[in-house]
Amino acid sequence: MMDTLDASAAVRAGAARTFPDLRFAGRALSVALLPALAACATTRTAPTSLEPQIVAHEEWEATPPLGHVADATRRNLAPGDTLRFKDLTITLLELALEPAGGEAASERGRAVLLLERPGERSREVVRGGEAFNWGGFHIAVLAARAAPGQLGSGLVEFEVGTLESLPPHIADATIAGDASYRLRVPHDIDRITLHHSGSPEPLRPEDDPVEKLRGLQSWGASARNWWDVPYHFLIDLDGTIYEGRDHRYMGETNTRYNPRGHLLITVIGNYNIQEATPAQLEAIESLMAWAAVEFDVPLDRIYGHGDHADTSCPGTHLGKYLEDGSLVEGVRERLRALGHTVPVTAVGR
Ligand SMILES: [Zn+2]
Repeated sequence: MMDTLDASAAVRAGAARTFPDLRFAGRALSVALLPALAACATTRTAPTSLEPQIVAHEEWEATPPLGHVADATRRNLAPGDTLRFKDLTITLLELALEPAGGEAASERGRAVLLLERPGERSREVVRGGEAFNWGGFHIAVLAARAAPGQLGSGLVEFEVGTLESLPPHIADATIAGDASYRLRVPHDIDRITLHHSGSPEPLRPEDDPVEKLRGLQSWGASARNWWDVPYHFLIDLDGTIYEGRDHRYMGETNTRYNPRGHLLITVIGNYNIQEATPAQLEAIESLMAWAAVEFDVPLDRIYGHGDHADTSCPGTHLGKYLEDGSLVEGVRERLRALGHTVPVTAVGR
C-alpha cells in the first residue's frame, strides 16, 4: 500500500536501510487512517517526509550493543559536584592519586564520597573500578581519573542503579566491570547536541568511515567502558548518517555535563582542523529537523557540546554555524518548507 506521503520515503529508502523508528510512521499509517490523523494532528501533517536515510547499526557495527536496561543514571563528577538520583545524593568530596597507582593510575585513583539519603549518611573511600551497594542502590565507580593529562582527568565516573532493577550478577558485583556490565539508562529527549568525534587527524575522503565507527565502538568499550558508541547518530564526509547508540538511552561523555535528555549527533572527524562539507551540513539539518518533530524539541534547544561543558567540541569550523544561527535557521526553513510547525523557543513549556 503506497500513498503520496510514503512514495518519496520509499524511493530514498532504496539505497540504505532506514532506521526502524523512522520507518514506523510510514509503514504503520494506512491510507485509511491518514484523513483521521490529519484532522487531529495538524502540527504533524507529513512526518514521513522528514525521514532521513540512515544506515542501520548492524550494517556497520564491530559488535552488537551491550548493556542492561535499568532504573539507573550515570554522571562524571569533579570534586565538589553532586549527583542526585531518586532519594540518593552522592557528593564527590575528594579525588586523589593512589600512592602506588601503577599502570592504570588514571582509573585507580581514590575517591572520597559523601552518601546521603533521608535518615542515612555515610562517608566512603572508593577506588576506580570498584562497586558497592548502599541504601538500596548499586554504585559503580567506573573510573577515578586522578592522573593529570588524560581524557577526563579530574573526573570520577559513576553509574548508579536501583538494586531491584539490576541483573543479579551486577547487583552482587564488587567491581565496576567491563562494558558488558554497563547499564542502559532510559531517557526522554528534550534537546539536541552537536559534536565532532575530535580525532587527532581530520577525516579524509579516502578514509573508510565504517572503520572509524568500528574503531570508536571498540575503543569506547575497552578504554571507556561504554556499552556502545557514545552518540546516537554519526555523520561522515558525504553526509551519510549512521545509526549509533539506541536513542532511547542516554549517551556518553568524557566531560562534566549530564547528557541525559540529549540527542547526541556527531560529525566524524576534527572540525577544529577541517571544514564541514555542504553534504554534512545538509545531513545535520535534515537529522535535526526530523528530531525536532519526532521528540518535540523547540529549536532553541539545539546546542553544541561546548554550550554545556568546557570543550572545543564540535570544533570551531562547525561551531560557527551554531553561533551565527545559520544551522538552526536551516532546520527551521526545512521544517517550514515541509509544512511542519515546531516551536522556536521553550518559553511557556
Ligand atoms: Zn562533544
